[in-house]
Amino acid sequence: MKRKHEGCAVGIDLGTTYSCVAVWQEQHCRVEIIHNDQGNKITPSCVAFTEEQRLIGDAAKNQASVNPQNTIFDAKRLIGRKFSDPIVQDDLLLWPFKVTAGVNDKPMITVTYKGQEKKLCAEEVSSMVLTKMREIAEAYLESPVKNAVVTVPAYFSDSQRKATIDAGAIAGLNVLRVMNEPTAAAVAYGLDKRTNCVEKRNIFVFDLGGGTFDVSLLTIKDNNFRVKATAGNTHLGGEDFDNRMVNYFVQEFKRKNKLDISGNAKALRRLRIACERAKRSLSFLVVSTIELDSLFEGIDFCSSINRAKFEEINMDLFNECMKCVDSCLTDANMDKSNVDDVVLVGGSSRIPKVQQLLQDFFKGKELCKSINPDEAVAYGAAVQAALLSEDVKNVPKLVLQDVTPLSLGRETIGDIMSVVIPRNTSIPVKKTGTFCTVEDNQSYSLIKVYEGERTRASDNNLLGSFTLSGHTLAPRGHPYDVCFAIDENGVLTVSATEKSTGKMNEITITNYKERMSAEEIKKLIKEAENYHIEDKKFLRKAKAVNALDEYIYKMKDSLKKKDSLKLSSQEIRKIESAIVAATNLFDNQNVEIDVLENYLIGLKSRMDHIIMAMVID
Ligand code: AMP
Repeated sequence: MKRKHEGCAVGIDLGTTYSCVAVWQEQHCRVEIIHNDQGNKITPSCVAFTEEQRLIGDAAKNQASVNPQNTIFDAKRLIGRKFSDPIVQDDLLLWPFKVTAGVNDKPMITVTYKGQEKKLCAEEVSSMVLTKMREIAEAYLESPVKNAVVTVPAYFSDSQRKATIDAGAIAGLNVLRVMNEPTAAAVAYGLDKRTNCVEKRNIFVFDLGGGTFDVSLLTIKDNNFRVKATAGNTHLGGEDFDNRMVNYFVQEFKRKNKLDISGNAKALRRLRIACERAKRSLSFLVVSTIELDSLFEGIDFCSSINRAKFEEINMDLFNECMKCVDSCLTDANMDKSNVDDVVLVGGSSRIPKVQQLLQDFFKGKELCKSINPDEAVAYGAAVQAALLSEDVKNVPKLVLQDVTPLSLGRETIGDIMSVVIPRNTSIPVKKTGTFCTVEDNQSYSLIKVYEGERTRASDNNLLGSFTLSGHTLAPRGHPYDVCFAIDENGVLTVSATEKSTGKMNEITITNYKERMSAEEIKKLIKEAENYHIEDKKFLRKAKAVNALDEYIYKMKDSLKKKDSLKLSSQEIRKIESAIVAATNLFDNQNVEIDVLENYLIGLKSRMDHIIMAMVID
């Protein structure tokens, strides 16, 4: 029996562009998608740093065009990756913020915060988004939230999953499980339909979000969900469609004005925001317009794009999606006619052309759109979180089985990838491969662990390496075992054993170089606390400054009405000198919060009776 966790647990869809948090409501037996402080059910996965404060979510996104270098989005694209990764290198060209290589080739984002340069890793930025989601849930539930299920794309590698768990830890969350996004969506869908699901159903989940694309084939029987196969592209989604539209309009601007705006971060950022809006409206309109005052060198830009043009400039990307659909079915060895339901997930799955191509692929089958594509993943994660929580009793009993998205193995002589766990194997799983020494009297073996489908080990992704020492000295061909174990989170542990003498020598990869050490995580938790304290301090000061401003206004207003209010000349002088002193303090940027707050208390005690008397009069 698995240990259940105490206290409330939420489900968090930590998206590339937007995040969403949900919770299982015990009393109503249903999932609640929680709205943020702006009343929105999705929150931009965006963090910004200014001269005065740190902003997360809508507030960060809203100021992005005036502060592009210090507004970070897409941290999910960096998480668990190396700086030299070609995907990171491609992304760098499109980001207005600066990313450089840190220790062990870890990508580090550089921002200016309160006039000082700061370097942040992707885990830290993601942890800030997770903190925001935790706070949104805490405000709604009116109680602390410690536990969460966090979703990741099915294609996330082992290191990306581990980095996501680290981000949760920095955010003060105990990540109960990292769950594949399509599985979470299927859980949401399955819950809706489970009363009809007596026979086995094959569900195809098509998840096209802001930055990633996943497809998965699942089977659902009774309450048992099993992922049969996954495919996808970690770099395909709404942002790519936005970029195509941005390029289209950059060319148009060039043609019309003989000026190139592509080097101007602010103009590009404004154009990208307008393009994203236009793209959304093209899902229900046939033409969309863009109007940007003084976009570049004082020139206004006004143009339009129709749906056909939008489809034309993105057609190769849409076709790329369909190729993944095909390869997922091939992997699962399933004919498309055997798919019972096709489920749409992710904001970009609203694009009519995408829906049409998908429907054509499945020979006219009606697509399931009953779940809100922005909320389905968080919905499923909340169900999983409830299942893992001690307090929750009446959540439907579901059994979830995922598969490993990439083959896992080790390098053997000649740079050969020797697969121990093939891709699409159900997890959790434990498999052991027996290997032999290659030299006489070999005393140790170097075990390099890779993930990927290439025959040559070095063409795959190196996850880590370790040495098994203490072999019995023997002629070559002496056997030893290497065991690969993947837990429910998709996290991998590899151990090696030399059994010949009965003596066991075992090494487990738990903390290879891309992964943060406990010490580093501790340091970042401390930093996160500092950010939190600074944010609170900023809000307190802003509140005090506003209160003082309001009081100055009240006093000025009383002077305007001095005749009707019958103020004595002594009272007028008192008010006038109080206004001068308060305005001086208001204008002083460096004043301490305590000084400001105490001053206001004193001012009110001296002046309130005059102002209050006026009001009563
Ligand atoms: P997600 O990552 O699932 O939150 O999806 C976010 C992406 O969906 C963003 O790129 C949005 O621009 C895109 N999106 C949201 N609504 C629509 C829509 N109605 N039509 C096209 N794209 C959309």
